[in-house]
Amino acid sequence: MNSEKRFAIIGAGLGGAAVAVLLKQAGFDVTVYERAPRFSRLGAGIHMGPNVMKIFRKMGIEEKVSLMSSHPDYWFSRDGLTGEYMSRIPLGEFALKEYGAAYVTVHRGDLHDVMLSPLDETDVIFNKHLESIEDTGNEVLMTFADGTEAKADFVIGADGINSMVRENLLGKEEPTYSGWVAHRALITGEQLAKFDHDFEDCIKWWTEDRHMMVYYTTGRRDEYYYVTGVPDPDWNSSASFVDSSREEMREAFDGYHGTVQALIDATESVTKWPLKNRNPLPLWRRNRMVLLGDACHPMKPHMAQGAAMAIEDAAMLVRCIEEVGLSNFETAFELYEANRKDRATRVQTTSNANTWLRTQEDPAWCFGYDLYNEPLKNISK
Ligand code: FAD
Repeated sequence: MNSEKRFAIIGAGLGGAAVAVLLKQAGFDVTVYERAPRFSRLGAGIHMGPNVMKIFRKMGIEEKVSLMSSHPDYWFSRDGLTGEYMSRIPLGEFALKEYGAAYVTVHRGDLHDVMLSPLDETDVIFNKHLESIEDTGNEVLMTFADGTEAKADFVIGADGINSMVRENLLGKEEPTYSGWVAHRALITGEQLAKFDHDFEDCIKWWTEDRHMMVYYTTGRRDEYYYVTGVPDPDWNSSASFVDSSREEMREAFDGYHGTVQALIDATESVTKWPLKNRNPLPLWRRNRMVLLGDACHPMKPHMAQGAAMAIEDAAMLVRCIEEVGLSNFETAFELYEANRKDRATRVQTTSNANTWLRTQEDPAWCFGYDLYNEPLKNISK
């Protein structure tokens, strides 16, 4: 009986939500511990490619996500100064036909809500900040900041770039600052309507050392979002983000195309986030603990696939557990790592290099990936 084994998941982000839903669907006993008191609709968008939409199909949420999202026909890359097109990557109908699912852009908070919706309220415990964790051999003991403790048979560290579970496995090490920041702003359709520009569904404006990625976050196209990558060697704040301003944006994108200037003029509030990173980890698991998502392969977000990799990890982990069974859990976790490491590292490297879709290229290796039909790699015993 699957339900005899208890899984604790640390972190209810996009990766934690996916693994909780998929494990529960497979019949396992799951509790998610999340340090935040609740989730709110913070100002950010996210891309979800066909590689992830196929996992949402399995989770039973593909249609919901599809209905609330924007469905761009193309990813355009354009020269930030001249406006010249550098690539036109077909999505829309082409993605449905060639990659087997839609390519969508959506509000991150709306997506997160839908991803958590298959869970019961009691499956996720908020205000539970994991402070220490001990694998006793037969089970795992967790201690939280509020002084409470919990036990589980297995712990999945889906606790992001500053993962406490990663720290337990590999020791304390701060992530490295990449030297780049990202500005993020949401613009209402009302604001946009004041400007006579063609605001394309999904476009990345580039110059040599910076860019601005822009897309709609709703199916109604009443909310537009931009996220940038801009060098900032002097960042020295420990905050996860700070306020930025229109003036700072004008300076950073001085000389950029009129459509970008219009977006900056339409900006009511904008925040600035340091982009952090880690080198690929030497191990993703030990005995009863296993990592996924940003806890084991954080990356600069320039390929828009960071959360996608967390969700793919979740799906592969559950697939391997079902394949092998928990009486051989170490083999199941090893099989998971063997079937994720190369792809996650390839995406991490490409994303960090910020070259993805800058020029015309075939994205099939990423978007066409079908996790459930991918033959599993063997592991040597
Ligand atoms: P997280 O989303 O970081 O979730 C971790 C969770 O664990 C959080 O809820 C946190 O509160 C909780 N937690 C942390 N520590 C503890 C603890 N000790 N105890 C209990 N709970 C804890 N990805 C895409 O796929 N597409 C995009 O378009 C995209 N755009 C991005 C834009 C920017 C500017 C950035 C910075 C990232 C972007 N990403 C994108 C990447 C994506 O956001 C991350 O890769 C993704 O959120 C990782 O998911 P995760 O579940 O592993 O970690």
